[in-house]
Amino acid sequence: MKFKMTFLLVGATLLSSYTPKKEGNSKPKNETDQKIEALLAKMTLEEKAGEMTQLTLDMITKGAPYDAKKETNIDQAKLDTILLKWHVGSILNTGQYTLPREKWYEIMGKIQESTQKSRLKIPVLYGIDAIHGVNYTDGATLFPQELAMAATWNPSLVERGAAVTAYETRASAIPWTFSPVLDLGRQPLWSRFFETYGEDTYLVTQMGNAAIKGFQGNDISNPEKVAACLKHYFGYSASTSGKDRTPILLPERVLRESYLPPFAAAIKNGAQTVMINSSEINGTPVHASYHILTEILKKELKFEGIAVSDWEDIILLNTIHRVAATYKDAVKLAINAGVDMSMVPIDTKFTQYVIELVNEKQIPMSRIDDAVRRILRVKFNLGLFNKMYYEMNKFPKFGSAEHAQVSYESALECLTLLKNTDNVLPLSKKSKYLVTGVAANSLNYLNGGWSHTWQGVETKYNTKGKKTILDAIKDKVGEANVKYVEGAGYDKDINAAQAAEEAKNVDYVIVCLGETQSVEKPGDIEDLELPEAQLNLVRELAKAGKPIIFVMAENRPRIINKIEGLAAGILMAYLPGDEGGRAIAEVLFGDFNPCGKLPFTYPRFTGSIYQYDHKLSEEKDTKFGMKGFNPQFQFGQGLSYTTFSYSDLEVSAETMKGNDTLKISVKLTNTGKVAGKEVAQLYIKTHFASITPPVKKLKGFQKVSLEPGESKKLEFKITKTELAFVNEKLEWVAEPGIFHVAVGNQSQKITYTDK
Ligand code: BGC
Repeated sequence: MKFKMTFLLVGATLLSSYTPKKEGNSKPKNETDQKIEALLAKMTLEEKAGEMTQLTLDMITKGAPYDAKKETNIDQAKLDTILLKWHVGSILNTGQYTLPREKWYEIMGKIQESTQKSRLKIPVLYGIDAIHGVNYTDGATLFPQELAMAATWNPSLVERGAAVTAYETRASAIPWTFSPVLDLGRQPLWSRFFETYGEDTYLVTQMGNAAIKGFQGNDISNPEKVAACLKHYFGYSASTSGKDRTPILLPERVLRESYLPPFAAAIKNGAQTVMINSSEINGTPVHASYHILTEILKKELKFEGIAVSDWEDIILLNTIHRVAATYKDAVKLAINAGVDMSMVPIDTKFTQYVIELVNEKQIPMSRIDDAVRRILRVKFNLGLFNKMYYEMNKFPKFGSAEHAQVSYESALECLTLLKNTDNVLPLSKKSKYLVTGVAANSLNYLNGGWSHTWQGVETKYNTKGKKTILDAIKDKVGEANVKYVEGAGYDKDINAAQAAEEAKNVDYVIVCLGETQSVEKPGDIEDLELPEAQLNLVRELAKAGKPIIFVMAENRPRIINKIEGLAAGILMAYLPGDEGGRAIAEVLFGDFNPCGKLPFTYPRFTGSIYQYDHKLSEEKDTKFGMKGFNPQFQFGQGLSYTTFSYSDLEVSAETMKGNDTLKISVKLTNTGKVAGKEVAQLYIKTHFASITPPVKKLKGFQKVSLEPGESKKLEFKITKTELAFVNEKLEWVAEPGIFHVAVGNQSQKITYTDK
């Protein structure tokens, strides 16, 4: 029997969710193990402690660290000291800005030469934040940031993007990227929200798996693949205050059910390294948590790769977290908890303390051997003992049009149409436009943080030849039809009055709202509302009475409810990268039919932050009704220039028993006049459970392309894994009872019995 459900439901492909007890990591080849053991047997304690040390590039360049003005040139004496005296195993980062490929090759050449002078000639493992493309190499392909990639709901684009990034990372002589971020974006205040694949565990897991496939392929010794690093293991995004690196208060039950599965799946798929959460969870800094690092990560998930600390985090156990009275105590705590490599990043005391602590029997040698084995394993897997890097001319596709095309397709598919009153969009190419707003004429506002520099604010390193939104709109409608007035900066008025005046002379106003580039601590904000200067610009523009289109380039969902009513159309652009300008113009003028869907719930008020999978109690309103869940825009929402309808939902059985597989099919039809892509989303609603159930839960999705009038039958499968949740005893269980499956507006009731 079918009936319409009262909650919004939408659909997809089902890959099984995480069941901890069954997790396993494929065993490395015996041959590699033998090589590791042979090498380990030759290593002194000093060499092992060095292997566990990761220093930043500034430690081996001329001049003072953190000097943004200095040129990046290797200081041979510093390099030889850290490699030959301290036996350092890993180096990371750029100096303060992006470098040409030639420079990366020069750096890597010198590092390799120096390792060749060492006793055991162990290659250095160099790591970089290639976050949305190789953002620290000049001319590399910059992709939409992760949140935007999630909005495509197209894992194959994530995989292709990661493959390009892997290629271009190796083309920069670097074999290790600190990506992907698998933290959940459930706290919109958080400065790193844009680095996540959004709020949902299932979506993040699918995108994370695709990223691992793209980065690593089947064999990371392939010169076009890199080792990935899962960040930030785990729970990092869930800070209670929303400020970066502040306390997380979450029961282990919730952490296991929502935050762990993306990491568990990526580890099962062979992810080589993880970077540890810089914050504390329930009072224990994760860098000091034996439970999280050893019991869960290494024993339960059988992770065999490297657990690397985040920036300076062992030092912070002493200076900020105050769980260690001295730096040396902090080293003892972290290494015994399970940290394998310390991103120190600017001192050699870590190495010295490891040596002392082992000699004093405060860290067992077995722990050191375990850490070093893991590091050597990744180095062997990457093939670094044969070749630390490959010749520059081996990578003809670096920064190519072919690679830019993947970024462009991703940008097109991420753009999410949130409002389109009276079909104001697509716009005509024959009208006159005012283009205004802080994000209108800037590549930085399209790329965000981690772009050429850490914070991404500097303009002088921007990729040459890329188009801003303004450039791309001019290309579409001709320069004569476009008037540009900046209007407002991020949080200050520039010339809103002049923009309002110009609005009178055009047919439409395109206002590009945006958020200053930032990452980590510098991105902490006090207020989620879009700054007053931008709200004011919109209010001023509205006085001209012309239809206004918002294009929003944001790091996180900034509250817009005071001005939302003034917009006829709203296009969410996230941080769409270097090709974002072109993609936005394609969508605005109807040359591409938008198909992105929100990967998070867009809040209406700063005081009402809820996710789509909230509890029913969160829907209670002040009048004792159930209208309390009232976001500005819903998770999974996104309009199209065509219309779709769902019909004929069928299930293979009305009762699902034990290990049965339930098949669900539904017909999707393009009922409009243009071709388009729709994301069918499959949700499950559990009616009753021993732990309060969420109102619905995403368990599958499929992105489908349909011509006008075309229909397709979509099929999904679910098993008891999709019904399971973590109970009070921290076990994954599927309890007998009633649930609904729903795709679009179609739903069906099913009974589950465990026998
Ligand atoms: C960030 C990481 C990053 C690391 C290396 C840290 O501050 O939290 O995400 O990978 O720095 O740059």
